Amino acid sequence: MTPDQYLKNYIDGKLVPPQSGQYLDNVNPATAEIYSYLPDSEAADIESAVVAAEKAFPGWSKTSLQERSRLLSRISEIIGQNLTAFAEAESIDAGKPVSMATTIDIPRAQENFKFFATAILHFSSEAHHMVGQAINFTLRQPIGIVGCISPWNLPLYLFTWKIAPALAAGNCVVAKPSEVTPMTAYMLSKACIEAGLPAGVLNIVHGLGPKAGQPIIEHPKIKAISFTGGTETGRRIAAVAAPMFKKLSLELGGKNPNIIFADCDFEEMMKVTLRSSFANSGQICLCGSRILVERSIYDKFKAELVKRTESLVVGNPAADETDLGALVSQAHLEKVSAYIRLAKEEGGTILCGGERVPMTGDFKNGYFLRPTVVEGLSYDCRVNQEEIFGPVVTIMPFDTEEEALSYANSTRYGLSATVWTKDITRVNRMSEKLEAGVIWINCWLLRDLRTPFGGVKNSGVGREGGLEALRFFTAPKNICMKY
Ligand code: NAD
Repeated sequence: MTPDQYLKNYIDGKLVPPQSGQYLDNVNPATAEIYSYLPDSEAADIESAVVAAEKAFPGWSKTSLQERSRLLSRISEIIGQNLTAFAEAESIDAGKPVSMATTIDIPRAQENFKFFATAILHFSSEAHHMVGQAINFTLRQPIGIVGCISPWNLPLYLFTWKIAPALAAGNCVVAKPSEVTPMTAYMLSKACIEAGLPAGVLNIVHGLGPKAGQPIIEHPKIKAISFTGGTETGRRIAAVAAPMFKKLSLELGGKNPNIIFADCDFEEMMKVTLRSSFANSGQICLCGSRILVERSIYDKFKAELVKRTESLVVGNPAADETDLGALVSQAHLEKVSAYIRLAKEEGGTILCGGERVPMTGDFKNGYFLRPTVVEGLSYDCRVNQEEIFGPVVTIMPFDTEEEALSYANSTRYGLSATVWTKDITRVNRMSEKLEAGVIWINCWLLRDLRTPFGGVKNSGVGREGGLEALRFFTAPKNICMKY
């Protein structure tokens, strides 16, 4: 399962070059050097993928659940057998520590296939009896051809989180990974070929959003779109897909509060807060970037957070001791750096970090940024309202539960929220009132794949996970039979 220098599209069961013959540069963010090339695909490549998917659909939708399950399990096994190769490729492509790709990204991609390989065996539909008159039963049929589009922050993890349930439910898929991190999706194509997935069932087309993604959204034969990415992209996708009455699942941006009460388990909270602030360099949609702290422990928390943040190791993604690797791209480094400048303009104080890490040798041009803690900002300034998506957190004191809630709910986003407290009645009050689709109490990123996942407000519409995903990727049809 080797990474290659020239990546190919996976269409109709074969690895093929883009029809235009054009390629895009793929940059290693830790060295800022081009190390491979990906297809610069366009509408013609998407058309070939749709033709292949259309040809495959009658067979795949009638394939027994046991056989679909067997094939998805086999893909999962192949990913597991090639864990190291996948993890190293993910690290080079995204700049993230190999240790993270080895323990989180790739095992989760493997788990996604395994989970839906078995979930489909237990997915059932309802019957509704009208006593003495009729029986209703509901078929859950695959939709047909569906589009799956994913971002760069958790490349294979999020790509497979969509593809696995779509395939399990009997759909054929046209999928596009992020152009910023295409390598493991390319390796997945090889895994599917090795597993014997029938031609055309899954098609993976690489390229830019407007050029290769947009034709997926616009294609009249693609009936559902599962998208994860930025809120503005989601808005553009909805503007095209909604008038075509496509089924839409949009998992978008976040600006998540991490709310810390004085009665929490301080040590556990500190340990997890360091992760929820800076894991994957803060490039996880669920990171808690606004930290709200009850005033009585604010000074103690601040001193401890700054001390622990300064001890994080930023550097070579391949080294075992590295906590934070490089940011994913130069454009993203510039975006995050601009927000750090804005934080100062808005009256904030940079308590630690705030600048690039001076590196030497191979990494001297890499996109490394020190993890940054900012205080002294108002809850409604731009830095506290807009998604930064980097290793930057703000800290703010609060006096009452009501104040914490109003700060927490003040953004246009509503993806996740974390609460640290031992008071169970407060947990209930807060959980009810927090405007978010995912709430963590005294933990963070603890995921059971059966639970619904998604946001409210501008963080998206629809839910992924467990049966929610299988419901999204099927169309219910009620059949009413009179006695
Ligand atoms: P992005 O919106 O720029 O791109 C996401 C994907 O959409 C890429 O594959 C891109 O090529 C494609 N795309 C772009 N324009 C398109 C168009 N017009 N038509 C079709 N496809 C198009 O997002 P990104 O920068 O890759 O990822 C970061 C964002 O993703 C952040 O906002 C983050 O919060 C969000 N995210 C959300 C979740 C979640 O579950 N809610 C998870 C991870 C990341």
